[in-house]
Amino acid sequence: MEQIRKPRGTMDITAPDIYKWRYVEDTVRKTADRFGFEEIRTPTFEELSLFQRGVGDTTDVVQKEMYTFEDREGKLFALKPEGTASVVRALIENGKCGDAFPIRLYYITNCFRYEKPQAGRSREFVQFGTELFGSSDAGADFTVISLASSVLSELGIKNVSLHINSIGCPSCRPKYREALVSYLEKNSAFLCQTCRERLKTNPLRVLDCKCEECRKVAAGAPKTVDYQCEECSAHLEKLTSMLDSCKTDYVIDPHIVRGLDYYTKTVFEFIAEGIGAQSTVCGGGRYDGLVKELGGPSLPACGFGMGITRLLLAMEQSGVEVPSPSRAALYVASMGAAAQLKALSIVSGLRQVGVKAECDVVGRSLKAQMKYADKIGAAKVLIIGDSELESGRAVLKDMTGSIGEGSQVEIETDRVAEYL
Ligand code: ATP
Ligand code: MG
Repeated sequence: MEQIRKPRGTMDITAPDIYKWRYVEDTVRKTADRFGFEEIRTPTFEELSLFQRGVGDTTDVVQKEMYTFEDREGKLFALKPEGTASVVRALIENGKCGDAFPIRLYYITNCFRYEKPQAGRSREFVQFGTELFGSSDAGADFTVISLASSVLSELGIKNVSLHINSIGCPSCRPKYREALVSYLEKNSAFLCQTCRERLKTNPLRVLDCKCEECRKVAAGAPKTVDYQCEECSAHLEKLTSMLDSCKTDYVIDPHIVRGLDYYTKTVFEFIAEGIGAQSTVCGGGRYDGLVKELGGPSLPACGFGMGITRLLLAMEQSGVEVPSPSRAALYVASMGAAAQLKALSIVSGLRQVGVKAECDVVGRSLKAQMKYADKIGAAKVLIIGDSELESGRAVLKDMTGSIGEGSQVEIETDRVAEYL
């Protein structure tokens, strides 16, 4: 029979990698909690229209990358390509838009995008994201940037830099867009095919095209910051003064754009060196228009998304050692059926009081059990046979060498917990 394989661009995550994933997830949760962000979990799939409106019809994500399907009633759904639209939908649907400001939420969620799989880019990936609602002050932008930066440093990621830009607001962006389109039209012969289309639908996105040729064109393009209204430039100035006063390094980078219409003012990315072409570990910004766009009140917001795979690549690049899982404190080896029953009862008792303990459930010989105990790295081994059952005493062997290699003591089998 032909072997069934996992879908292209998906992963099976097993030990020892799973410990790295859990370490990242735990660190992310702890850091988010320290910043007062609460977790939200939303469905894996949503109505297709949520993303068409929430992510934007002209974006690559919606046009080319979504996994859409029709259910048995003929309704159109999509697997979540990102987290923000769902969070906003949930906020509105559950009547939470009026909660005490700032509303701070985070999620760790699987996302699905039909992309060309490569290092740091897969079709199912896990995103850690945050959203802060209810503040138009630069302090909100600062908070999410600072949270992202704390996560990266908690994880031991070095060689990462913060790139910031402002893409203006509905009052100043049209003028910029006009200038950009006229510049891009003059240079359209040098753009890739995709960007020639983007030029008509989503010209800002040309600025973050990864093609060599398009990058050259982008380098000479007009900059958003030169077209900003007073409010937008004051916002950027306030944000950078906050970053300066908290000694957070950043660069103003005119190539950072998020091609969605409701992104306003601040956009930012954390870029890691040395993890290959997919070097943006975190992307975020302000999206003051989104809640209203999705049918809620006018509620300013900002946030970011971070791909866990890229965090793991950056950690590897930084030489981070993830703590390995705890090993068994005790392995109870047994000879014979009666001894196995005793071993099971000792192990059950220990597990109930929180001790990681194991015994044979395979039917191995004593020699094979000892070998297995060594393989799993059990700290101690207790050996039980007929005579030990009778006397109620058995040998507890130390496997770690911490109190002398292979040292052993005789103990009462019912009091083993005291010796661990
Ligand atoms: P890119 O330019 O790399 O495609 P993007 O702008 O599409 O990124 P966002 O939608 O902002 O990415 O997603 C936020 C983060 O999620 C990215 O910075 C990245 O870390 C991660 N990410 C996005 N797409 C993928 C993917 N296909 N595989 C793995 N991680 C991803
Ligand atoms: Mg993408």
